[in-house]
Parts: sequence; C-alpha cells; structure tokens
Amino acid sequence: MMKKILLYLSEREAPKKMLTSIALFNNVTKRFVAGETVDEASAAIKVLNAKGITATFDHLGEAIRSEEEATAEVEMYSRILDRIASDGLDSNVSLKLTQLGLDIRKELCIDNLTRIVGHAAKTGNFVRIDMEDSGHLEATLDVFRAVRANHDNVGIVIQSYLFRSEKDIRDLLAIGSRIRLCKGAYKEPAEVAFQAKSKVDANYVDLMKILLPSGIYHGIATHDPAMINETIRYAREQKLDQKCFEFQMLYGIARDRQLKLVEEGFNVRVYVPFGRAWYPYFMRRLAERPANVLFILRAMVKG
Ligand SMILES: Cc1cc2nc3c(=O)[nH]c(=O)nc-3n(C[C@H](O)[C@H](O)[C@H](O)COP(=O)(O)OP(=O)(O)OC[C@H]3O[C@@H](n4cnc5c(N)ncnc54)[C@H](O)[C@@H]3O)c2cc1C
Repeated sequence: MMKKILLYLSEREAPKKMLTSIALFNNVTKRFVAGETVDEASAAIKVLNAKGITATFDHLGEAIRSEEEATAEVEMYSRILDRIASDGLDSNVSLKLTQLGLDIRKELCIDNLTRIVGHAAKTGNFVRIDMEDSGHLEATLDVFRAVRANHDNVGIVIQSYLFRSEKDIRDLLAIGSRIRLCKGAYKEPAEVAFQAKSKVDANYVDLMKILLPSGIYHGIATHDPAMINETIRYAREQKLDQKCFEFQMLYGIARDRQLKLVEEGFNVRVYVPFGRAWYPYFMRRLAERPANVLFILRAMVKG
C-alpha cells in the first residue's frame, strides 16, 4: 500500500503540480526544507545555532542545463557565504557538482567550484561537495582533487553502499581530505553497490573506523541509532576526543536525536536545504522512509 502511494506521488504529474503549490509547500515541505529563500534558510539556521547545532546551507538546484544556470549557482553560493558572515551564522555550505556544470564540461565545473571555494576562503568558510549517483563519482572525485590541490577548505562525501568506498577513502585521506560519510541516497545497481541494508551498515561501521582515528575532522552523517551508537562506542574505546568529528543529520529528521547528542557534548551539524527546486530532494526523503508519506497525507488532509 505504502509503495503504491509513493509511486503515485513520484510519478503522477497532478500531485507534482499540487505539491508545488505555495499552500502545500508551507504545510508539507517545511518539515524537511527550510524555505525557498536565503532569508528563510538563514532564519532556520539561527534557530539551530541557538540550540548549539551548526549547519550547512544547501541551495537545492540539481540538473542545470546551461552555463548561465551554473553561473547563477556560483553567484547564489557567494551570496550565501556573505550572508553567513554578515549574520554571524555557524554554518558552512554544501553543493552538488551537477549544479556547477559537471554535466556540461568538467573544466567549467572546476572553474566554478574554484570561485566558490576561493570566496569561502576569504570569508573563513568551508565547502562540502555532496556525492551524487555513481555515474558522477569519477568526475566528482576528479573535480574535487583538482580544486583540493590548491585549497584545503573543501571536502567531499563517501557513500558506504559502494563497494569501492574503502579504497576511495584511503586515497582521499592520503591527501588530507575531510570526508562526510553517509550510506548513500541513490538507487544503485548490484554491480557497484551493496543491496542489503545489513551490508551497507556493516561497511559504514568499517569506514567510520578508518575515518575517526585519522587525525582529520570528518562528518558522520546518519540518523541511524545503530550507526550513531557504534560511532560513540568506538570513539570511547579508542579514547578519541569526542570533538574530533561531528555527527551530521538532515533538517527536520531525528530532531530529538540531534538535541540529545548536543547535550551529550558531541558536535552536531544539520544540513539545511532551501530553494525553489526542492522537489527531487523532497522525494528522496520520502523514498527513504515510507512513514514520511503518512506525515504528508495528514498535512494534505489538514489543508
Ligand atoms: C547530513 C547528511 C548529508 C548527506 N549527504 C548525502 C550525499 O552527499 N550523498 C548521498 O548519496 N546521500 C547523502 N545523504 C543521505 C544518506 O546517504 C542517506 O540516504 C540518509 O541519511 C538515510 O540513511 P541513514 O544513515 O539516516 O539510515 P537509514 O538506514 O536510512 O535509516 C535508519 C534510521 O534512521 C531514521 N531515518 C532515516 N531516514 C529518515 C527519514 N527520511 N525520516 C525519518 N527518519 C529517518 C529512522 O529511524 C531509520 O530507522 C546525507 C545524509 C545526511 C544526514
């Protein structure tokens, strides 16, 4: 039943149009998306910061098709970095390379990322490159390495569902990279990725154990209590400073867990997506957890 609702929501044009209406945006998506503007995202981050949680701005804008759109993203991220500085927010930024023209030309993407990372360096900030589907992985790593060669305020993401991730992590650690570890959000084929949750989880734990003692500040991105508990257990066993890494979670998800970790003295960063192109992000969150579909249906009924 739940699968049918999910399929209906993701494939039909009518609900897609309904979901993009402003009223429904307010009722439904505000749980997972901070708003459509920098002002709204900044306000959401102020609330998080007041609770002791740091943030990362994510301007939602996948699958751009022209150099002009990529340039607009560079300008948007420059504005965000200036806004973080002027509002005194405790936040960095996350972005996807397809937003910066990866599908158009790799060189264009390198130039665009260099501009953003250079701007972030001037404002004392850090840029995280999200990882997309495995079809973009090699190109994403190439662009990262090209920019990382001249700037150390840029980091990358590794997904534990991919077979190759341990080797990628070891290569990236060799050049001092800051890594966010997540399970992975895309539908990947059995040739490249573990399909069973138990295997993805076991690999997550193995990779976490490579990252934590590396002496580099990494992000452990998960809402999974089993992954969080194992990370804490391992850090204690290894007598690591609990501030030598941070937990990362998504806006609106596991909010109690975020606060509890802060109370226990851990660093917690929340990924704050905002922007008009919120639909693909929102659908990925629904696909991950059918219970969220019920949440939406309830909000739709309430109007
Ligand atoms: C900060 C951050 C950045 C990310 N960046 C990327 C990226 O760059 N590339 C990428 O591919 N993926 C990224 N992801 C997504 C990630 O790969 C997973 O798809 C997502 O986090 C779900 O996996 P999980 O570790 O939370 O555990 P899961 O195995 O999905 O879930 C375990 C438990 O977590 C809770 N939970 C998980 N998801 C939800 C939800 N949507 N709503 C409510 N509860 C939930 C539930 O209690 C669930 O039982 C990111 C995730 C985070 C937190």
